[in-house]
Amino acid sequence: MSVLIYAENANGKFKKSTFEAVSYAKAIAQQNNTTLTAISIGNVAEDQLAVLGNYGAEKVLNVSSGKLTNFVNQAYAAVIAEAAKAEGADIVVLSNSFSGRGLAPRIGIKLQAAVADGATALPEQADGKFTVKKTAFSGKAFAVVELTSANKVISLTPNAYKLVETGGTAQIENFEPEVKSTDFKAIIKDIVRSTDKVSLPDAEIVVSGGRGMKGPENWALIEELADVLGAATACSKPVSDAGWRPHSEHVGQTGIAVSPNLYIAVGISGAIQHLAGISSSKVIVVINKDAEAPFFKVADYGIVGDVFEVLPQLIAAVKELKA
Ligand code: FAD
Repeated sequence: MSVLIYAENANGKFKKSTFEAVSYAKAIAQQNNTTLTAISIGNVAEDQLAVLGNYGAEKVLNVSSGKLTNFVNQAYAAVIAEAAKAEGADIVVLSNSFSGRGLAPRIGIKLQAAVADGATALPEQADGKFTVKKTAFSGKAFAVVELTSANKVISLTPNAYKLVETGGTAQIENFEPEVKSTDFKAIIKDIVRSTDKVSLPDAEIVVSGGRGMKGPENWALIEELADVLGAATACSKPVSDAGWRPHSEHVGQTGIAVSPNLYIAVGISGAIQHLAGISSSKVIVVINKDAEAPFFKVADYGIVGDVFEVLPQLIAAVKELKA
């Protein structure tokens, strides 16, 4: 028995959510008194690969084939499953990122494994049972699922597990998988970045605006608060439906699910469909002029007030703290 973690990179650098997944996988390996191997696919420099050792990987398999530089769902799933077999790993961990959500079920099929997607806590292992707490129904609820098959695939919700630096070092090995041409059914030809801002699914802080912002001309306030906090911006569905903001920022049941350390909701009522996408945020701050707005029921901190008075004061206060 051993554990394999897929270490996802973005442009050759590992994301924080990858280190969280490595820390999480290491804790599972320790629970089972076994080893942790990481697999990295794409163009990642050796000093970056070595950082995985600091979060607990004893070995790193480096797949640097040119064909695999860009993410291809079927091919990456085949490579990770092949590595799991080669390493005798029966638990595969990955981040429940955009690509992780596509990979987990595919790896599950290839390894005949039970899959727990969106895990939020370490597995409980008692009386021969292996159970995992995970988000369910677009984040509206939690489920505790028992993984009954010998092989298991677990994808970890970003920001749900702490980073643990072990100070360890990893042995780096090249891994040359057998990739079949049939695994390249959809090929990425070009990647065009739409923004250089913090990416919403990975953001630790999110500033989100709703219809209470009145119109797109007022979004400079949301962007300025996000800038001073180093946050990503988001919005409610009606805001993106009205074209005030791009659909890529729409959070909720029909949009993106986020789990930042801090979610600041500005002029958003807190409808159940919106809460579905943000309920696993660690701290929720709500700014709304209506003290009866449903969002206050799930808020850790609430400010009852007009956004056009509160936001400038908040921005000034954060700037002063940072000065
Ligand atoms: P409103 O409900 O209009 O709320 C605006 C808020 O701003 C109010 O609480 C008001 O008090 C406050 N406000 C107004 N002016 C000010 C001011 N000057 N200062 C301070 N506060 C002010 N919604 C989502 O967000 N995401 C989803 O994924 C989603 N999916 C859906 C799926 C389905 C099937 C359906 C039916 C609906 C879905 N919705 C979704 C829509 C959802 O039900 C709500 O209608 C929506 O979230 C409301 O957006 P809002 O809070 O921005 O606007």
